[in-house]
Amino acid sequence: MLLTVLGCSGSIPGPGAAASGYLLEADGFTLALEFGNGVLSRFQEERPLFSMDALLLSHLHPDHCIDVSSLYVARKYHPTPPEQPLPVYAPAEAPSRFVAGYAPDAAERSSLDFSDVFSFHPLGAPVHIGPFIVEPALVAHPCEAYGFRISHGGVSLAYTGDSGPCEALDSLASGVDVLLSEASWTHTPQRQPDLHLSGRQAGELAARAGVGRLLITHVPPWTSREDVLKEAESAFDGPCELVVEGGRYEVVGERT
Ligand SMILES: [Zn+2]
Ligand SMILES: [Zn+2]
Repeated sequence: MLLTVLGCSGSIPGPGAAASGYLLEADGFTLALEFGNGVLSRFQEERPLFSMDALLLSHLHPDHCIDVSSLYVARKYHPTPPEQPLPVYAPAEAPSRFVAGYAPDAAERSSLDFSDVFSFHPLGAPVHIGPFIVEPALVAHPCEAYGFRISHGGVSLAYTGDSGPCEALDSLASGVDVLLSEASWTHTPQRQPDLHLSGRQAGELAARAGVGRLLITHVPPWTSREDVLKEAESAFDGPCELVVEGGRYEVVGERT
């Protein structure tokens, strides 16, 4: 399983940096994970426009999905559009959310559900997406939001999405080879609960879950990446790094 980072800027796109977007690839199948601000542009720098096989979204905040409305335009109006709808695995409100992001006029919205371009699959039970087994779990965030455990060929990756510390994250991450964890701020007691992880909390999650390798993502432009990494390293003594846009990370059996 190969992880490619299209964007990793937390909460908003940064200067020259896209918000959340990743590719997971195995057996010739390309699963796009998250599609936030700037990710459609970055995707086209990495791959042909219509080369993704499915799209998986953790939740419907703009930094994780807003470019789906533009992907609709591409798939609808390109002179040689794809023949099949793109499978989109997302929270149940995804169609109305994306239609609202696309159409400013209520009359136009009433005639659209994007089903001509996308086939929507609400998240809930574990699901096979191409060669991947994807296990979603509700996490601690102010909207319907999921973390995922994604397995293929005997290796596994857990992704937190956006979440404060919670039992669901511990369960998803338990024993995985790679934990791709958000860390949106440094650790101080005043932080709003059930919203995000600090660098320290990401490290503590990795340590509790016994993961093989910790990859930190979703650091906003106003937060020190170095401070977040130091916190994570102080709580987790395994391999730990900040992901970078364009970075490629082979998910292999990391645990000894
Ligand atoms: Zn976010
Ligand atoms: Zn969010």
